[in-house]
Amino acid sequence: MKQTRCKICVAGAVQGVGFRPFVYNLAARLALTGSVTNTSEGVQIEVQGDGAGLERFKKAVISECPPPAEPVITGVEAVEPIDNENLFVIRDSRPEGKRELSITPDTATCAACLAELNDPADRRYQYPFINCTHCGPRYTIINDIPYDRPNTTMREFTQCTRCQSEYDDPGDRRFHAQPNACPACGPHVWLADAGGKSLDADKPIKQAIEFLQAGKILAIKGLGGFHLAVRADNDEAVAELRKRKYRKAKSFAIMVRDIETARQFAHVDKTAQELLTGKERPIVLCRKRPDSPLSTLVAPSSRFWGIMLPYTPLHTLLMQGDYPGLVMTSGNQTDEPIESDNNSSREKLGGIADFFLMHNRGIYTSCDDSVLRVFQSEPLMLRRARGYVPTPVILARKGRGDILALGAELKNTVTFVKDNKAFVSQHIGDLGTTVVYESFVRTVEKLGALIGARPQIIACDLHPAMLSTRFAQTYEDIQLVRVQHHHAHIAAVMGEHNLEGPVIGLAVDGIGYGSDGTIWGGELLYVWPDRIERKGHLQQIPMPGGDVASLEPWRMAVSCLIKTFGSPKGVTLANELITDIPSANINAVAVMIIKNINSPLCSSLGRFFDAVSALLGICRENTYEAQAAIELENSAAPDEHNAYPVEIETRDDIKILLIEPVMQALVKDLHSGLGRGIIAAKAHNFVVEGLTQLATELSQETLCKTVALSGGVFQNEIILSRLVDTLERKGLSVYFNRKLPVNDGCISFGQAVVADTLIRKKSGV
Ligand code: ZN
Ligand code: ZN
Ligand code: FE
Repeated sequence: MKQTRCKICVAGAVQGVGFRPFVYNLAARLALTGSVTNTSEGVQIEVQGDGAGLERFKKAVISECPPPAEPVITGVEAVEPIDNENLFVIRDSRPEGKRELSITPDTATCAACLAELNDPADRRYQYPFINCTHCGPRYTIINDIPYDRPNTTMREFTQCTRCQSEYDDPGDRRFHAQPNACPACGPHVWLADAGGKSLDADKPIKQAIEFLQAGKILAIKGLGGFHLAVRADNDEAVAELRKRKYRKAKSFAIMVRDIETARQFAHVDKTAQELLTGKERPIVLCRKRPDSPLSTLVAPSSRFWGIMLPYTPLHTLLMQGDYPGLVMTSGNQTDEPIESDNNSSREKLGGIADFFLMHNRGIYTSCDDSVLRVFQSEPLMLRRARGYVPTPVILARKGRGDILALGAELKNTVTFVKDNKAFVSQHIGDLGTTVVYESFVRTVEKLGALIGARPQIIACDLHPAMLSTRFAQTYEDIQLVRVQHHHAHIAAVMGEHNLEGPVIGLAVDGIGYGSDGTIWGGELLYVWPDRIERKGHLQQIPMPGGDVASLEPWRMAVSCLIKTFGSPKGVTLANELITDIPSANINAVAVMIIKNINSPLCSSLGRFFDAVSALLGICRENTYEAQAAIELENSAAPDEHNAYPVEIETRDDIKILLIEPVMQALVKDLHSGLGRGIIAAKAHNFVVEGLTQLATELSQETLCKTVALSGGVFQNEIILSRLVDTLERKGLSVYFNRKLPVNDGCISFGQAVVADTLIRKKSGV
């Protein structure tokens, strides 16, 4: 029979996911010969046989491919047949070729591995590092491409003969599973005391479970770093963890055994269930049930439990303990990145944990747990890290050159664009501390190397003093693009949804440096996306003390009252209404405002919510970002649909949404003794109606019917759901961030989208 041969190039998620064994078995089934090889760009297949067989192969290689592999054929080329070839082989990886990241994210333990984990007859029975080509660590253990064992932290472990023969057998589930290991040859766990000294425990996991049952705090090394764990139904233990971690009120995530347990504590809809049990295994925010046995101290100011299911064999084993769930919060010191190194964790977590459950599989790249919630039956990303990174966001068109975008100051991420793919890094954190900044620099270096990106443009924020901006300036001979914060927010939505623009942008959040030097955060923008026009904003008010006002919401309450009622009436009202802050402090802040001392103007919606929250006595100190706004949302009466008055004044062609009429009505309500749930709801409804009116007015002027929403305020469910609803009822198409966080986690991506548009325009595409 006439032989034909072709070379097929495959990209996408094809390395470390069992793709080559699948190709091997497929070729064997169709009696074809040839080879399959990992390359730096993906996988290259050469396949030979009769024409019909080759056609079936090409179809089946996509249609029959098992998850989590996601192959994309990027090229097929006929080549000369090779005489007397009679085998199909899997070749060793070749490092040459254009480097392109095809590393997949870390994946939760698969069903086949779980079955072995629980099978007393299996040689990996209860082995906490069981994995195969379909599951296990990937991104967190790799240091270079291609994805082969010597480039991972598993290079320290030489496989025993039995593991090696699995690794070498193309028919085996562990064929070329880089982290393959067993109790005889692989990593192991051990227990240590708070000082890091190893304990003599021959069953460390069993012992760890006993400690946890007794209410002890354990630092547990996992996949992307350490967790601090404590049983979630023990008030004292949870309170102790809060005390030692200096964490007053911010919610802790919990891990529960299975989806049935999750249902006992929380409302889990179909989408939430898919997220909880999917291969990414993020934390999913699920509405609390009233009768749960969990300690209220786990999430004191939230209507949600942040729930996740076990995603490593070690977690599965730990969840066999006699507790309804474990608090599993990132193992770090306040404002620092998650710990992933054994030595440094001893130093940093030794003062928090009673014991350590350590292991010796190294972590090259630390990764926090991802966080999502469900909005209108679809996932909404809140923190993107483990399980999702480094899966790229696909852009509509091929970029002209590589781009690096450095992100925002808070909730920082960085983004590399290469070809049509945007690689958004894992959540890095707030750049304020040296250790987070170092983690930011490491991420830029490591992710850039893994992708093989050579940035021609670097995008950063407009703020001149930001650490990321200064970092950008250390690159010489590379074009620098400075992107305004809220511009980046809206561009991120455009990039995610392939919107060409112009669009109407509503960018509302806590703080972003504006192009006029003031602080923005309640913005109506018209966006192309390579440029913006500011068309409107929330009325500006002074922010006494600058950044300090973000921590002390009552300062914004004083500011709003003085803006509305002037001095001395506003000051008198502040002293009357803000009861738990000493008069001296209130008066000192009033002087700052009146004399314009260190009180920059801001149009931030986040700060407006701070003011309302403080006036209602709900929250006068933010112990974590946006606490006042979150607690205000939680207290809002759900059925109240009245709103404070929306008045828009146009000055110099810019629409100003006024705060003064709101404050007048709100103070009246306070004096008449109206319930604070009603007042909170009326403030929310004012924001919804105000933003709706701003957007519809601009739509009438521009005839643009597309609205993009972005910014941390849209994490507020009342605002997002009601605004989407009212805008859609006005006939507008509404888009917002879904795959990326709506908060500042999307900023680096948005900056990259702006830079990409600029390059394309410049090169005339
Ligand atoms: Zn597996
Ligand atoms: Zn072994
Ligand atoms: Fe923002």
